[in-house]
Amino acid sequence: MTLNATVQVAYILAALLFIAALAGLSRHETAKRGNRFGIAGMTIAVVATAVVAVRDSSRGALLTLLLIAVAMAIGASIGIWRARKVQMTGMPELIAMLHSFVGLAAVLVGFNTYLEHEPLSGGELRIHLVEIVLGVFVGAVTLTGSIIAWGKLSARISSAPLMLPHRHLLNLLVLIVTLALTIWFAVSPSLVLLLIVAVIALAFGLHLVASIGGGDMPVVISMLNSYSGWAAAFAGFMLGNDLLIVTGALVGSSGAFLSYLMCKGMNRSFFSVIAGGFGAGSTTGAGSGNSTEYGEHREITADQTAELLRQATSVVITPGYGMAVAQAQHPVADLAARLRANGTQVRFGIHPVAGRLPGHMNVLLAEARVPYDIVLEMDEINGDLAGTDVVLVIGANDTVNPAALDEPGSPIAGMPVLHVWDARDVVVFKRSMATGYAGVQNPLFFKDNSQMLFGDAKDRVEDILRAL
Ligand code: NDP
Repeated sequence: MTLNATVQVAYILAALLFIAALAGLSRHETAKRGNRFGIAGMTIAVVATAVVAVRDSSRGALLTLLLIAVAMAIGASIGIWRARKVQMTGMPELIAMLHSFVGLAAVLVGFNTYLEHEPLSGGELRIHLVEIVLGVFVGAVTLTGSIIAWGKLSARISSAPLMLPHRHLLNLLVLIVTLALTIWFAVSPSLVLLLIVAVIALAFGLHLVASIGGGDMPVVISMLNSYSGWAAAFAGFMLGNDLLIVTGALVGSSGAFLSYLMCKGMNRSFFSVIAGGFGAGSTTGAGSGNSTEYGEHREITADQTAELLRQATSVVITPGYGMAVAQAQHPVADLAARLRANGTQVRFGIHPVAGRLPGHMNVLLAEARVPYDIVLEMDEINGDLAGTDVVLVIGANDTVNPAALDEPGSPIAGMPVLHVWDARDVVVFKRSMATGYAGVQNPLFFKDNSQMLFGDAKDRVEDILRAL
């Protein structure tokens, strides 16, 4: 087999392993296997690409290999350092930051490809030039969009949506101007034109994500994931690397599909998200009001909660971001095991956007070895909550907020939520009466069957375990 054919076979094998990885990652039980497939595919891809780079290089094999090794060593060291350091609660910010690197890479590849002057002509050259403009455009949008998402998720910039007048018209105008510039560039290419497209795209990405409200960030993350995939696919076109095209398209389409599923989970329109400026609902009205609008809340102690649980025959636990902050998943798993050993039915109810990234709660519960069959999705558990004795809301807020159903003026109006208030008793674990991520007060805390158990979720669950 020639070297070319061997590389093509390696690329096909890597692409198949990536597909197997995605399939594996779609279920808890097979997620680890999926990751192994992904690692194997990426190893094959990197080796095959390095072989091609060495073959095609004009600098000599040794220098090329050295350059690749140094770049990989620097990247890997930073990657390992970040991966070891990052808290589970900081994952969304890290992911947003990594998406911005993909965008930056696509922009740099675009400029490099243009400056290297491919020896093409006629139709082939035009297509190549269009690939370059589109690659730079999508890459630049991903770059600034992801940086804004990183800023919002890490609270470095306000999560409130930026509401420029006529913003949809502005977005449409950007797309029309970009289309015109693309045609211009394909006919008469110049560095200045490419720079103009890049600047417009940078501003567009910034505006697109800045105009999205905090509560809707989960969809933005998966949308930027999709954009980063398309940016990589364009880089693949520019570099003439088939595997990068396939991999980028896989990431792009799976990210788009995930965005669609999350939109469905949050009852939002997919097209409004793509267009940006979504989630910009009113922030006035009851939703943003303070606690006094809803009356007085009641408090409960850990000992009293233990007593409530001792007498319950069915318990549902609905975790949220606060469980991740407190790292309470292990004591929560112990509590579930203890109650189950006493014959109590215990189940977990997981909201699709609980926590700060899709599947956040599932990952934490799996880490704490909670059996998969008692971890149910929102739609599976909601109908059973009315017949449940006790619901423990552990560090969740927006995802159990009845205002989403009852208050049309609320920023989270229309978002499906866990109907925890239908249960006989609800105990809410949190540190204060502060609002959740969406910044809206929660009337659940003031309902007659709700009681607040204040303090760090891990400490309080451990107190309950001791009392039991
Ligand atoms: P929320 O952010 O609504 O609420 C979390 C609650 O946890 C807070 O009210 C906080 O209250 C409490 N808390 C924080 N630390 C602790 C602690 N150590 N011990 C006990 N409680 C604690 O979380 P939800 O999971 O209910 O909702 C997720 C929100 O995040 C939604 O608005 C969603 O749209 C958004 N989001 C989701 C993403 C995703 O992909 N899943 C991505 C980005 C945003 P207090 O400070 O009083 O303790």
